[in-house]
Amino acid sequence: MHRKRILVTGGAGFLGSHLCEKLLNKGNEVLCMDNYFTGSKDNVRHLLDNPYFELIRNDVTHPFFYEVDEIYNLACPASPIHYQYNPIKTVKTSVMGAINSLGLAKRVKAKVLQASTSEVYGDPKEHPQKETYWGHVNPFGPRACYDEGKRCAETLFLNYHQQNNVNIRIIRIFNTYGPRMHENDGRVVSNFIVQALKGEDITVYGEGNQTRSFCYVDDLLDGMMKLMDGPDDLDYPINIGNPKEFTILELAEKVIKMTGSKSKIVNNPLPKDDPMQRQPDISLAKEKLDWEPKISLEEGLEKTIAYFSDYLK
Ligand code: NAD
Ligand code: UDP
Repeated sequence: MHRKRILVTGGAGFLGSHLCEKLLNKGNEVLCMDNYFTGSKDNVRHLLDNPYFELIRNDVTHPFFYEVDEIYNLACPASPIHYQYNPIKTVKTSVMGAINSLGLAKRVKAKVLQASTSEVYGDPKEHPQKETYWGHVNPFGPRACYDEGKRCAETLFLNYHQQNNVNIRIIRIFNTYGPRMHENDGRVVSNFIVQALKGEDITVYGEGNQTRSFCYVDDLLDGMMKLMDGPDDLDYPINIGNPKEFTILELAEKVIKMTGSKSKIVNNPLPKDDPMQRQPDISLAKEKLDWEPKISLEEGLEKTIAYFSDYLK
């Protein structure tokens, strides 16, 4: 049997660790590279005994040289608290990480996938967001290090493809949640669940009428791997996310109900440049990948709540 050798940058993070697991389960050899900024060895500890799994400490901004067939470039802090902690480093991670991943792909003729984001649409004026929408991003605000870094990475992917014939994939990921999110990650689903389980106030920013669409990790990774495995003309960005849209207040109420918590909802100030609404148009993913999410918010929350209940014991 031919085992593909696959590099996952950011492999010890939330999405990366689940991806490593799924790729190993499909019979591949996996190289997991991380600098452990927001990820942790604990996320992949259960894979360490697998002879086809290799853990490498490296910063994606430092060049790396491995013989691989595919590269999933996921290295980058994803939560606003973490990516705003050292904004210059966030830009370097996105831009130099993309250059290093693309440079390796070019040299060894590997296929390379970029984990892009719905943040490339900024605070969108078009709703739902289609891949053809150019976005509405503030290049001079607190989210710019992440949004513009990811936009520049997409540009690099396009340019390496056109100039050097590198085989590329770009997935625009919309809010995804599930087990192994960082407890103090600051993202809304993990924040609300942890607060509810600890009986602390649920911190809704603003009035909570901003919207997001939440995709469960298994659905998201199913789409990501279908994109990687799909035909080579999939050389343009594709939205992957769950189009079912909820207000943040609805999410808070759902989490309180499902955890049976006595927590109260409090309203904190809305962070600057917080997008008011976000919902993916996934027609392209349906058409090109025959992909759509299958897991409802209730089902996904149940699994995530079970994970955090156990984790916080
Ligand atoms: P995460 O923070 O859990 O994982 C990111 C991983 O990258 C961590 O393990 C971290 O230690 C590692 N990392 C960060 N900087 C690095 C560097 N310089 N060198 C090497 N490793 C580094 O976040 P996640 O939710 O798993 O996100 C994974 C990818 O998906 C990111 O690129 C993120 O931008 C993208 N994404 C995620 C979402 C989401 O909702 N989860 C949405 C859009 C895009
Ligand atoms: N949010 C909130 N309370 C929290 C954390 C986040 O109300 O404790 C809001 C946040 O203002 C945003 C939404 O939830 O409108 C999603 O935030 P997250 O950081 O998860 O992702 P992003 O803003 O990048 O979509």
